[in-house]
Amino acid sequence: MVDGKTKILGVIGDPIEHTFSPAMHNAGLKALNLNHIYLPFHVKADRLGHCIEGAKAMGIQGLNVTIPHKTNVIKHLDEIDSVASMIGAVNTIQFIYDEDNESSNQNNNINVTTKGFNTDGYGCVRAIEEKTSIKNKKVTITGAGGAARAVAFQMANSGIDELSILNRNPVKAESLANDLKVNLEKAGIDITVNGFEIEDLKRELDDSDIFIDTTPIGMYPNVDDKAIASADMLHEDLVVNDIVYTPMETSLIKEAVKANAEVVYGYKMLLYQGIRSFEIWLGREAPVDVMEKALLNVLGI
Ligand code: NAP
Repeated sequence: MVDGKTKILGVIGDPIEHTFSPAMHNAGLKALNLNHIYLPFHVKADRLGHCIEGAKAMGIQGLNVTIPHKTNVIKHLDEIDSVASMIGAVNTIQFIYDEDNESSNQNNNINVTTKGFNTDGYGCVRAIEEKTSIKNKKVTITGAGGAARAVAFQMANSGIDELSILNRNPVKAESLANDLKVNLEKAGIDITVNGFEIEDLKRELDDSDIFIDTTPIGMYPNVDDKAIASADMLHEDLVVNDIVYTPMETSLIKEAVKANAEVVYGYKMLLYQGIRSFEIWLGREAPVDVMEKALLNVLGI
C-alpha cells in the first residue's frame, strides 16, 4: 500500500509506455516487503535537467534511464562510476541524501549527490556467467552501437583475453575498438575489428568461446529476419547470446540450438541490469527468482 512513507524509484525515457522495468522492480520490492514503488516517467529531452532537479527536490531514491537520455543525462549528475564514464552512458542514477548537513540547507541547496552507473554490460556478463566463466576467453561481438559499447567495456573489464568486433559500418567498430584500447591499455586485450562479411564472421566464430549479437536483427516485428549466423558457422563449445528479447527464440537462437551451442536469452541481460540497479539503490541482495518470474510474465513468455 502507498502511504506517506513510501519511497519512489522509477525509469525515465521517451517513449516510456513499453517499459518492462516497473513489473520486474515492483515484484522485487513487494517480495522484500519494502515500502517503495517503481514508476515510469515520460521525460522529453528538453526537460531532462528539470527532471533531475525535480527528482532531487521530491526525494526520489533512484532512477533508471533509457532511450534517448543515457548519454545526455551525464552532464546533470554529480559523479559517474568509472565503467559508466568509459562507456559514456548511464542507465542507473543513485540519489544520496545527506539529511544531517545543515550548511547547504542554509544556502537553500538540496543536500543530495547524484551518481550515475551503467548496469547494461554487467547484465550481459552476469547472464553469460550463468553458463561459462568469461576469464581468458575470446569474445566476438556483432554490432557497435550503444548496447555493444556497454557490453564490450564490461567484458574488457572482466578478464577476457580477446575481443573481436564486427559491424556493418566498420568505422563505428574501429572507433569503439580505439576507445577500448585508450581506456583499457593495461588490460592487454587483443582487439580485432572487421566489417560485416560472412567469411570474416565465420572465421572469428571458429575460435571464439562466446558470441554476442547486439544488432536488432530478428527483433519483433522482424522476427523472420535471416539469422546473423547460420548453424554451420556456430560450434558446440560456443556460448551464443542474442541480446534481443522480443521474441525470446530469435532466428539466431534457433540456429544456435541447431548447432548444439549453449544459448543465453536476451531477457537475461535485461533482468540482471535491473538486478544490479535494484542492489545499488537498496544496498541489499535482490530477489532474482521473483524478479525473473515477473519479467517473463510481462514479456508474455
Ligand atoms: P544502436 O545503438 O542503434 O546500434 C545498433 C547496431 O546494430 C549498430 O551497430 C548497427 O550497425 C547494427 N545494425 C542495425 N541493423 C542492422 C542490420 N540490419 N544488419 C547489420 N547490422 C545492423 O542500438 P542499441 O541500443 O545498441 O540496441 C541494439 C539492440 O539491442 C536492440 O535490439 C535493443 O533492443 C537490444 N538491447 C537489448 C538489451 C537487453 O537488456 N537485452 C539492452 C540494450 C539493447 P551500423 O553501425 O552499421 O548502423
